[in-house]
Amino acid sequence: MRGSVWALVVVAGLGGGALLWSFAPSALPVSIEAPLTFPITAPQPPPAMRVGVLHAGRMLSRGLFAYRGGDAGERVFGMDAVIVEHPRGTLLFDAGFGRRVHEHAHTLPWLMRRLSRIEAETPVVDQLAGASIAIESIKGVVLTHAHWDHVSGLDDLRGVPVWINRAELDFIRGTDPAARLARELGDLDYHLYAFDGPPYWGFAASHDVFGDGSVVLVPAGGHTPGSVIAFIHAPDGRSYALIGDLAWQREGVDIPAERPWLARRLVDGDEAGVREVLVRVHLLQRAVPQLLVVPAHDRRVMERLPPARRDDA
Ligand SMILES: [Zn+2]
Repeated sequence: MRGSVWALVVVAGLGGGALLWSFAPSALPVSIEAPLTFPITAPQPPPAMRVGVLHAGRMLSRGLFAYRGGDAGERVFGMDAVIVEHPRGTLLFDAGFGRRVHEHAHTLPWLMRRLSRIEAETPVVDQLAGASIAIESIKGVVLTHAHWDHVSGLDDLRGVPVWINRAELDFIRGTDPAARLARELGDLDYHLYAFDGPPYWGFAASHDVFGDGSVVLVPAGGHTPGSVIAFIHAPDGRSYALIGDLAWQREGVDIPAERPWLARRLVDGDEAGVREVLVRVHLLQRAVPQLLVVPAHDRRVMERLPPARRDDA
């Protein structure tokens, strides 16, 4: 009996030690088989194109959950959307927290609810009204992926086409609990797009939304099967890579460092896939100085984007 108690203590101690170790700093090895040598055509964004950010909500959590080596201090995780007003149509990238975010949060794993606190800001739909942008005029909401915190605002934007690729639509229509809210939102107006364009900045294929190189989507599956990165090239020469939840905070790309084991188990469908894309984006950031890599939940980075215009300010 005494022997088995000791065995339990040793196993519990080893398990606890392994869990703690999984939060320790650990940079991913930066080596990659396919080099970043793909030429891209220079984008030609129209002068009237505008890029802006809509801060829709926040979650308060800790840096240590965002990347290996993060600190235990409280950290803001923004729940934002990006708007691109292009002469050929207005696009939103993700939908941020919606008006019913506190109801939507029931789809979160219990542990994630315990480890974070939700704070609503101004839902995207109300910010659009403030800018006199009619919902009917929006060409689409492009999802970086279909997790709850990116689709909550879709509940207020019914009728707007939701731009998605086949892999992510299959993810929503499957049984994975991580897509539960998207499933519960019911029949949204899904607009399927295909990666019908050439390799792009190290990614295997692309989809050029307007045909002028200003907005290009590339497949970056891992976090979810159909996760994408959206490259946006503004007329002022600035470029953005909206990487969704490939990393939750910019240190994940800068180091590069993956999420700790606990967070990976909770949110990443394919951990190896995430690591591969993370290293690719790390190298891209180093190679392209005018590119701002934007993790969906790093409020410090989101605040570097221009604010979305408002008519009622
Ligand atoms: Zn997210």
